[in-house]
Amino acid sequence: MTSADARLAAAVALIGHTGARELEYGYLHDHVPIRQAGWWASATYRGAKISVEDQLGPLPALEALAVRLLTGARCQWCQGLVALSSAGAIAYPGAAMADGSRTPETEEEIAALGQCLWRLSGARWEPGCLHGQSTAPEAPQDRAARRRLRREYESTRPKATS
Ligand SMILES: [Zn+2]
Repeated sequence: MTSADARLAAAVALIGHTGARELEYGYLHDHVPIRQAGWWASATYRGAKISVEDQLGPLPALEALAVRLLTGARCQWCQGLVALSSAGAIAYPGAAMADGSRTPETEEEIAALGQCLWRLSGARWEPGCLHGQSTAPEAPQDRAARRRLRREYESTRPKATS
């Protein structure tokens, strides 16, 4: 298995881990360079179809879909916000989360949840809390990072179709 295959498998496993089903991905345009083919990915999550479009390849499409599904998600083990990079987690106050509950409404309550950093380990994403990493309430600089990340995410957000 190449490292690209491993990352693809990890993204598929991560999407499955959110409880999403009926994962599909593909492209729209033939006879163009692969990056211009219009890659998309979609999955059904609690009866709703979640999709991303206009990605540069199958791996970016699957990873973008995983990020969409895990945005504002809470770790099922420690209940912290899932962070997929050390840059931090993204949370939307009051938004429905992947586990069916809702993100708290206030910044203080969100900060109190703490963040659980998930790392890509081979072909699996593993929660930091299962590897001895503590899930502590956010420090003020982490809160600033979370706000910045959310602005960045919103500015690059792929179009959603439903
Ligand atoms: Zn955790």
